[in-house]
Amino acid sequence: MKELVKQLAAEQKEAIREDRHYLHQHPELSFEEYETSKWIKNRLTELGIPMEEGITGTSVVGVIEGKEPGPTIAFRADFDALPVDEENDLPFKSLVPGVMHACGHDTHCATLMNFAAILVRHPELVKGKVKLIFQAAEEKLPGGAVQMVADGVMKDVDCAFAFHSAAAVELGKVQVNDGAVTAAVGTYELKIIGKGGHGSTPSDAINPMPIACMVGTAINQIKPEKISPIHGTTVTVSYIHGGQYPNIIPGECVLGGNIRVLDNDDIPIIMNNIEKIARGICEAWGAECEFSSVIGYPATINAAEPTAIVRSVVEELGYEPIRTNPSLGAEDFSYFTLEKPSCFYNVGGANPDIPATYSPHHSKTFMLDEDMLDIALECEIGVYLKATGQA
Ligand SMILES: [Zn+2]
Ligand SMILES: [Zn+2]
Repeated sequence: MKELVKQLAAEQKEAIREDRHYLHQHPELSFEEYETSKWIKNRLTELGIPMEEGITGTSVVGVIEGKEPGPTIAFRADFDALPVDEENDLPFKSLVPGVMHACGHDTHCATLMNFAAILVRHPELVKGKVKLIFQAAEEKLPGGAVQMVADGVMKDVDCAFAFHSAAAVELGKVQVNDGAVTAAVGTYELKIIGKGGHGSTPSDAINPMPIACMVGTAINQIKPEKISPIHGTTVTVSYIHGGQYPNIIPGECVLGGNIRVLDNDDIPIIMNNIEKIARGICEAWGAECEFSSVIGYPATINAAEPTAIVRSVVEELGYEPIRTNPSLGAEDFSYFTLEKPSCFYNVGGANPDIPATYSPHHSKTFMLDEDMLDIALECEIGVYLKATGQA
């Protein structure tokens, strides 16, 4: 397999860089990727790849059908950029002030497009159906994936794969984790309503400030008391806003924070406990409480079989599969993983000779060694061959 895959990827060596440079120069924000969406549609049309109907917004799905029967395998690439002003001195630096591909989604999109080009040039490799999922808006809630799932994109899919480029992971290393890869996220806010008054007569008032302190302390007990100690969880009190003057007891204050869990079932447990505990403490002190929450992306959970495929492909191609602790960051590929067995992996793009390739994602100096494009492309080809029993 190794030789065939390397040869197929080598055919795209220049094209994949050209595509990535174009995308990098023309970044667009989440849900506003109109030109990128047009570019994807034009390229698919040029390649003679039909597109699925009924896809909402700027997302695009290309479908390649083989002559021989086989499974339907999906590959997903997100393609939105971020409100970041690029500081890198690159010949293909962003041409849009204040917008930058600072998370590497340009590399995801370029890789998937070149994978598609290979399959079109080598139709004998296509067994069954390949779905090319170009997904808008990964970076901004509610994300593009949830709508694609609602549009029915995953209905006929047997198995889905996606990769993320990873700054600070060395070139040649690919993070492939079993189970949870990224966290489920949520935010909450509590408005504590007491009774304002003069600092000299606290017994005539209901001071929401010490109540908020008690609620905040109690929230910190939810993780140790209500969540299994082996689950990866954070429950944070991130802000308490209230009061303004030493001798004024304020009438109300607001407290809020964020939750990240690696087990999707823990989100409702935590949210319910925050609300219950806050209401209980407020009631004890005669205050009222309003609770609100926003649930973000679910946790991304890799399934055993596709994960084993990715790991063995990485090894066979001569790269190093590594296991790491799951990230408590969020990723909306999770919506696809909830539908069908899937695998999300990270392709390293850091080069020890180029310190900038260790800049964090979402920073003005985020940079990848472009040789990660070849590795990412090889992995997609290898994974496809293995998933269809051709390797
Ligand atoms: Zn990002
Ligand atoms: Zn990203």
